[in-house]
Amino acid sequence: MRYAMTMDIKKCVGCSDCVVACQTENNVPLGFCRDWIVENVDGTYPNLELEIRSERCNHCDNTPCVRTCPTGASHVIEGGIVKVTHSECIGCGACIQACPYDARYFHPDGYVDKCTFCDHRVAKGQDTACVSVCPTKSLAFGDLDDPNSPVSILLRERKWKVNAPEAGTKPQVYFLI
Ligand code: SF4
Ligand code: SF4
Repeated sequence: MRYAMTMDIKKCVGCSDCVVACQTENNVPLGFCRDWIVENVDGTYPNLELEIRSERCNHCDNTPCVRTCPTGASHVIEGGIVKVTHSECIGCGACIQACPYDARYFHPDGYVDKCTFCDHRVAKGQDTACVSVCPTKSLAFGDLDDPNSPVSILLRERKWKVNAPEAGTKPQVYFLI
């Protein structure tokens, strides 16, 4: 089993419903977020192109955040989901420094927090909170080892890219282009 997410750049309107759903589902404190919206403008006026992306932890295959964690608080669970055990986190911040995507934040209660691919929902057969609310169906989640999962089908049918492939982390959030 290998969980992954796809994010359709052609469909995202930047409404932030995914951000609000995540904050509500995961009790993310005000002023912080586990997912966020990025807007990039490319080109030269008047030939400009706007790209809107919903971003989060990439649940990478190669995890500098886990390797650098001195306590084992940062770890990988079944399906490749990268998690932090809050009670084992000493708040040293090594993982925050190691992540090329700025995907982690210091929780005011003294530990590091990040996207969990809503593993508590996935265990019940549900989609992640962000996927479940996206009004344009820009987001999809599923098992790459299942050829019939939404992500497997989309990655077969569409062109895609990942963020910062040069970092060598093998990110598992795919942007459909
Ligand atoms: Fe770790 Fe950052 Fe990759 Fe998430 S995006 S698994 S925090 S390196
Ligand atoms: Fe590990 Fe916590 Fe330090 Fe991050 S801040 S490296 S999770 S102990």
